[in-house]
Amino acid sequence: MDILQTLCEKHRAQKGTLYVVATPIGNLSDLTLRAIGILQTCDCIACETPSITQKLLAHLQIRDKRLFTYRDAGERQSAQHLLQKLQSGFSVALVSDAGTPTISDPGFRVLRLCHCENVPIVPIPGPSAAIASLSVSGFPSDRFLFLGFLPLKKSHRQKILESYCHEGITLILYESPHRLLSLFECLQKILEPQREIFVARELTKLNETLFRGTISQCMQTLFSNTPRGEYVILISSLL
Ligand code: SAM
Repeated sequence: MDILQTLCEKHRAQKGTLYVVATPIGNLSDLTLRAIGILQTCDCIACETPSITQKLLAHLQIRDKRLFTYRDAGERQSAQHLLQKLQSGFSVALVSDAGTPTISDPGFRVLRLCHCENVPIVPIPGPSAAIASLSVSGFPSDRFLFLGFLPLKKSHRQKILESYCHEGITLILYESPHRLLSLFECLQKILEPQREIFVARELTKLNETLFRGTISQCMQTLFSNTPRGEYVILISSLL
């Protein structure tokens, strides 16, 4: 443990710098030594949900860290507030509830602002559900398109999928369990029945499940019970 602590301590947050810190998407051991070092030594942490970040900090035995909320709602104001802190010399770690901040998560506004104001920015890379699922999918990964969460409106969703599904690239989607059925019904409408789909559920968690198959094979597995948990859906460019 002493060696690990020493390695973490090598990574000290610098004054007036914004660190974009990836945190685990399930398994708390997926934190890098750099992430731990920055979370330990930064002046404050901008997070989405303080109670979630507090849990992570408790796991790392980091106490008395100043947290403030950074969310999509009111992001303009939060971005200004964060910029002021940075410009007055604070080192700030930006984290989201899980994975890499700004990837289907808040944060891009403050980064844009910091670039404009020449605030030093440092990425602390780590887990992201999109890349973790792509890495185990067995689908071509030389070219892929991350579409994140598709729009709620069915016709918009269908239009987006139709415009990309014949481009010869792997597509990556995030979806919540209660909208999975509607997504798969849309895929059934627009894709060839033999198109391969990969489903990554609850990555890095106790109930991690990975499966691939045609749309109807995936639907059989997915909807034999009510879907629960977090899902990434990949659509292969291959037939
Ligand atoms: N910033 C995160 C990242 O880097 O992956 C994504 C945040 S987004 C709000 C949450 C969505 O990511 C979930 O609805 C799900 O689609 C996907 N996701 C996050 N964690 C996951 C996990 N452990 N297993 C599968 N999908 C996950």
